[in-house]
Amino acid sequence: MSKRVAVLGSTGSIGRQSLEVIREQGYEVAALSAGRNAALLLEQAREFCPPILAVADEEAAAEVQKELDALERPPFLFVGKDAARNAVAEAEADIVLNAIVGIAGLDATLTALADGTTVALANKESLVAGGQLVMREMQARGGVLLPVDSEHSAIFQCLQDPNSARTLQKIILTASGGPFYGKTQKDLAKIGPAEALRHPNWSMGQKITIDSATLMNKGLELIEAMWLFDLPPRQIEIVVQRQSVIHSMVEFSDHSVLAQLGVPDMRIPIQYALTWPQRRPGPAPALDFRQLRQLDFGPPDEETFRCLAACRKAAEKGGLAPCAANGANEEAVALFLEGRLSFLDIGRLVEGCVDGGSYAGAYTLEDVYACDAAARRYVREHI
Ligand code: NDP
Repeated sequence: MSKRVAVLGSTGSIGRQSLEVIREQGYEVAALSAGRNAALLLEQAREFCPPILAVADEEAAAEVQKELDALERPPFLFVGKDAARNAVAEAEADIVLNAIVGIAGLDATLTALADGTTVALANKESLVAGGQLVMREMQARGGVLLPVDSEHSAIFQCLQDPNSARTLQKIILTASGGPFYGKTQKDLAKIGPAEALRHPNWSMGQKITIDSATLMNKGLELIEAMWLFDLPPRQIEIVVQRQSVIHSMVEFSDHSVLAQLGVPDMRIPIQYALTWPQRRPGPAPALDFRQLRQLDFGPPDEETFRCLAACRKAAEKGGLAPCAANGANEEAVALFLEGRLSFLDIGRLVEGCVDGGSYAGAYTLEDVYACDAAARRYVREHI
């Protein structure tokens, strides 16, 4: 069965891999959205011919518009910070794959769910910053939220049997440990952006690569898992699995454990989200057990990697605390990449921000954006 997919963040790492899967599956593209990469968006538009495009950056949008003006039947172009959300509202999509990075993806997730459209979610920040709102919108419309993150896809795959799923006791979220596994705070003090951008197992966008190095990514995933699988943090255990071959596990009431394994290739979880509930042949290579000599496990080091500890505190506090952690992290990572913060400052500032407020209670979308802005301000004031 063909599907019409709107791909948000199509010019990024997940976006590009999603288009590979879409090409392979012969699906239609209902819309494409980019931040500022005009050249790649135009190339994608030429191949997939979507009726709608969206570009957040106004200069990049002007470049795109110039090229579109030469076409006889150009796609409609939305421009500006609400472009992706407007594209989602207009697109006739069966599924919206949200691969925008950061809280910038939240509005589009909410808009898709408000329309009753299925969302394949790579943009974990939507759930971290606005989980209450996202889940409420989904439940109000009977919508479907499909995980794209490899860990959450693994858990989702392990929970496909509803009888077993009812007896879920614990999630075991695996982590690669990042490029600095085993290092001390002293070792980390001098790490610069170039080193932090080298991940051992995954090739990803810059922000998530830094999040993987600080273990913030695992903290964000802990919060994402709480929302997706409706579990408190104490039922989510984090285990380092160095080879990134076991993508996560679940434990049932009889202490039976199910795991999902595969090569570290995001096209597998992307494809599962797009073809679900079906499974289809795909382009990712098979796991070769003759090459796989060992599987190592260990605990994460939360004393050294304070971002993970901060996310755990934020998860326990609830309310807007995860939003604050996320906002502080987005700001700190941007400053680190500009060379204005040290690697260890990221954890210090995220934790400081989480510790600095009570954050409890219900919230509105306006509260989310106000909290995000305050967290970013906190970081700039405490450099
Ligand atoms: P990239 O940085 O590679 O791509 C981000 C995408 O978002 C790009 O298309 C970018 O556009 C677009 N974008 C950036 N800012 C804005 C904005 N303000 N408004 C609209 N669009 C914007 O990131 P990844 O693909 O690596 O990650 C995307 C999301 O998926 C993140 O939330 C990440 O945590 C999650 N994820 C990623 C994984 C991976 O393997 N990469 C694995 C699991 C989850 P442009 O390039 O044109 O500027």
